[in-house]
Amino acid sequence: MIEVNYHCPECSAVNNAAVREGGLAPLSCVNCDAQLVPPSDAILDGRVVHCLVCPSTELYVRKDFSQRTGVAIVVVGLGASCIGWFYRHFQVTYAILFATALLDAGLYLLRGSLLQCYRCQAEYRGLADLQGGEPFRLETHEKYRQQAARLAEGRPASQR
Ligand SMILES: [Zn+2]
Ligand SMILES: [Zn+2]
Repeated sequence: MIEVNYHCPECSAVNNAAVREGGLAPLSCVNCDAQLVPPSDAILDGRVVHCLVCPSTELYVRKDFSQRTGVAIVVVGLGASCIGWFYRHFQVTYAILFATALLDAGLYLLRGSLLQCYRCQAEYRGLADLQGGEPFRLETHEKYRQQAARLAEGRPASQR
């Protein structure tokens, strides 16, 4: 099972769907019921070669690490070390700071990787093999960012 996390193209609601390689069923939005029909060859040999949500075929591999978790660990660690500092337990203070840094680094390594679409930012988790996936490339990101900017500029003109 591959877990897809995407924003609905119609209403931009966040959707979470599980898809099976081979029998790709249409994805329907939890908010507006909009149907997305993924191309049948989107997933080949356990690899997403075509985004299920948008026409993009360019996806990159990144670490599945939520920044919020990292920040929370650091804040709790710093808070605890301040208490140690207040009671003049300097060794305890340094131990807490060290443990905080270690935990943060450890969590980063433990988290798996995910595949993300350059164009629509859809996230794919639970893929068997991400080794062959491309890492993030700034040129590709820039290409899609400019494309999106042009689309945003063109929209008011077409509505006039
Ligand atoms: Zn929707
Ligand atoms: Zn996409």
